[in-house]
Amino acid sequence: MSIFTKIINREIESNIVYEDDLVIAFLDISQATYGHTLVVPKKPYENIFELDDEIAGHLYKVVVKLSKAIKKALKPDGLNIVNNNGIAAGQSVFHYHIHILPRYEDDDYIMFGYNHFEDYTKEDMTKLKDLIIEAQ
Ligand code: 5GP
Repeated sequence: MSIFTKIINREIESNIVYEDDLVIAFLDISQATYGHTLVVPKKPYENIFELDDEIAGHLYKVVVKLSKAIKKALKPDGLNIVNNNGIAAGQSVFHYHIHILPRYEDDDYIMFGYNHFEDYTKEDMTKLKDLIIEAQ
């Protein structure tokens, strides 16, 4: 049973900010930024590849609703939506969840990525686009 299922079942404490039949949201214990919140489907899908359309649609509506509430309540300067899938992507709890990370001009949260624009030709990009289209 995942740690989030234990939170859903009230077996461990958390600060719940939203709940309905399908979704729960609570403050992330790490508070990577002030107001860091997790939005979690009650059914323990492991990652994004397991989600079905219905839950994905509902879950994202809740993410939008809570992002607006967090903006109103905490007045951040910005906000990131983050979801890690797999160890390589930094996932540590294998029960699907979306991070809402309010951002402040003086916060210490790091999102880092190199720009690899110069490594790809126009043909590489066309091939890449086609691979993704063909897989749908
Ligand atoms: P991931 O690394 O899988 O994307 O994110 C997992 C998140 O769950 C982390 O940000 C971590 O702080 C949070 N977390 C882990 N255990 C608990 C817990 O017991 N309670 C709460 N509220 N958050 C937790």
